[in-house]
Amino acid sequence: MHIASVGVSKFCFLFSLAFCGLLLLLIPAFQPPALQVDLPQPRPQIRPTHAGSSHQTRVPAVSVLAGATDTATGLNGSSLGQGETMEMEVTGGDNYRLVDSPKSIDRGAFPAWKAGGPLGSTSHDPLELKDIFIAVKTTKKYHKSRLELLIHTWVSQAKEHTFMFTDGEDNELRMRTGANIINTNCSAAHTRQALCCKMSVEYDKFIESQKKWFCHVDDDNYVILPSLLRMLSSYHHSQDVYLGRPSLDHPIEASERVKSDGSVSVKFWFATGGAGFCISRGLALKMSPWASLGNFISTAEKIRLPDDCTIGYIIEALLEVSLTHTHLFHSHLENLQKLPTDSLLEQVTLSYGGFENRRNVVSIVGGFSLVEDPTRFKTVHCHLYPITDWCPKIKPRHKN
Ligand code: UDP
Ligand code: MN
Repeated sequence: MHIASVGVSKFCFLFSLAFCGLLLLLIPAFQPPALQVDLPQPRPQIRPTHAGSSHQTRVPAVSVLAGATDTATGLNGSSLGQGETMEMEVTGGDNYRLVDSPKSIDRGAFPAWKAGGPLGSTSHDPLELKDIFIAVKTTKKYHKSRLELLIHTWVSQAKEHTFMFTDGEDNELRMRTGANIINTNCSAAHTRQALCCKMSVEYDKFIESQKKWFCHVDDDNYVILPSLLRMLSSYHHSQDVYLGRPSLDHPIEASERVKSDGSVSVKFWFATGGAGFCISRGLALKMSPWASLGNFISTAEKIRLPDDCTIGYIIEALLEVSLTHTHLFHSHLENLQKLPTDSLLEQVTLSYGGFENRRNVVSIVGGFSLVEDPTRFKTVHCHLYPITDWCPKIKPRHKN
């Protein structure tokens, strides 16, 4: 009996040992899967989900905009801006609406070039200013008040590569400054047709130029050339690259009248022309069927949208290439005073408020007072190029 009970205890002991061993072996199986550190990490998100992708939440349109008139609404200029949309006139004819964007999109929270673009071209093929075609849209009435300031500031540093597209002859300005002023012979009106006519000529001249990048700006933009070079150097011109800043926080929706009869709609992002945008040569060549030799005007007419929206439509909706959103471009639709002074010179474009908001300028000190330099462009320029002959001389530091 005693021996039997010892045997049972021994059996129990051995059984418990085996059970514990089994438990120990099974523990890893019950644990949650370990973090897989070797999995490829997604690139920092600088490109949004394609505007037309199916997982995008479609919400009721916040506004139905029909027939923005051809007068100076934001639609006919280069800037369809946040807030302006509600004020637009409804007259029939044009038809598009604005939809909300998915909240997950990180639109240029950090500069594209800091995030490391898809392909660096830095080591073998350093990008130079001569590789960039900079188009400035202007109009005769702004030659004196806007264009001259640009010619004396940033354009002077990229004279041969900057082309001003206007609507009237100005031989005096051309002779005096040696600037590349191109008379498009487009109408001087601020209408969609006239602005698209200028964009069409800009596009054709760029294609003709054989340059690697097309960048468009307005005549109230300051282009910080070193930042532009640095940003574009993160990409390769043969890739499909469309860089800029949307003025809306959601894609625009328009009736599809190029690929279909207008019964279906299409959603897409576009970079606001008032802040400037850039397109690689590779992508620009693909735009040709809808953009070259006057086709841009007919494309814009079909979808009845302004020039910058039409660019976005061709690239995002027709070619299915996403806009790379970046906050390095700035228009006067934003509060420019809020731009941090310490990173001002790292931005790619700056702007200033027009008649409606003269105080909307970047906050920078040195060089000139607000009265002497109301746009702040001269002050910015002297920070970037202090040896310019008209910049205030830097006082030598005296010891003791
Ligand atoms: N512009 C033009 N024709 C006009 C009026 C303006 O080509 O009749 C150009 C202007 O030179 C600028 C751009 O369109 O490059 C935007 O004009 P503006 O800054 O006056 O208006 P915004 O749309 O920025 O308020
Ligand atoms: Mn403007």
